[in-house]
Amino acid sequence: MDRIWERPSEQHFKLDWNEASVPPSPRVYEAIVSFLSNSNHLNWYPELGSRSLAESLADYTNVPAAQILVTNGSDDALELVCKTFLDPGDAVLVPQPTYTHFLVYARSRGARVVDFFSRDIFSADIERLEAQVRGGQFKLVYLVSPNNPTGVVYTRDEVERLLIAAPSTLFIVDEAYHEFYGETVVELVNQYDNLVVTRTFSKCFAIAGLRMGYLCTSDYAVGELAKPFNPKSVNRLGQVAAQACLDDLPYYGWYVSEVDKARTFLTAELRRRGLSCYPTPANFILVQLPEPTRFCALLAEQGVYIRDRSDLPRLPNFVRMTLPTLDQSEEVLRRVDIVLAQMRSSSRSAAVASPGPEGL
Ligand SMILES: *Cc1c(COP(=O)(O)O)cnc(C)c1O
Repeated sequence: MDRIWERPSEQHFKLDWNEASVPPSPRVYEAIVSFLSNSNHLNWYPELGSRSLAESLADYTNVPAAQILVTNGSDDALELVCKTFLDPGDAVLVPQPTYTHFLVYARSRGARVVDFFSRDIFSADIERLEAQVRGGQFKLVYLVSPNNPTGVVYTRDEVERLLIAAPSTLFIVDEAYHEFYGETVVELVNQYDNLVVTRTFSKCFAIAGLRMGYLCTSDYAVGELAKPFNPKSVNRLGQVAAQACLDDLPYYGWYVSEVDKARTFLTAELRRRGLSCYPTPANFILVQLPEPTRFCALLAEQGVYIRDRSDLPRLPNFVRMTLPTLDQSEEVLRRVDIVLAQMRSSSRSAAVASPGPEGL
């Protein structure tokens, strides 16, 4: 197969939205091509409710297929939860900083979003969170684990504590980065009524362009969610591709191990250059540095796109970089070095140009 990542020196690196930096498994292309070879396939509606994919996801998650809904990306699952359970004026608790798109769905339902800040934004601060939710004043709590962008995780025990502390509150645990982290709370949906776990094929599985995600939840909640759910909204090529991803888990195991190596390598190298680097269990790292906006702009001129996150609460001067493969990391680092040299030399010339206090 044509491995487009083999000529890294000519490549642009899109490391700003945490998409995979490699193409999906070759099986995905094969499955789509073979699907398209039947001239009747595109004129028919997709399989309703993606039921065969839900059966495969039942094996993958250990949750019964009847408790799984397949959606257009996990964004669509988040929107479905908000649409189903939120009414105007409902309070929604969100540990910040977080994945901001969820806030759009909550607010569009007229809900009141209440921010929660850990004392240290790189830890969950579970006792305070539990105290906050106890009493059940929140209709919904949105947790991301590992969190985008801080990497904070909520363990199974921690999530269970929260579910018990507020049994009438619905908790979303967004596991968009599950495959990189490895741990999950998904099986708790078999025990608790008030949990929805959302997952995606956009990150590790590398098919963000096909918009595939799903949610797993209790028998009770799936019944409510099924009411506004449109069973033909997930497209047929997405269904075919997602199935092919699940049929080639070794390929994704390889990709996750590449991301692991890149995390170790880039964290060490960036720290060696004097930058504060915060690795996460997901496929991105945070870096704190002077002039984050300028750093991102200069890096974009080198064909490396990363995300300025310094506008988010409590993340002063932070940028987020998606981890590429180890091979790609070496080339990315070479370009980072070009930018760091540019920034050093312009701060030197600025120092020369402006008279210091003694020159005034
Ligand atoms: C990227 C991301 C998503 C969106 O995933 P889609 O499945 O592409 O809609 C959802 N949640 C988090 C935390 C993300 O980072």
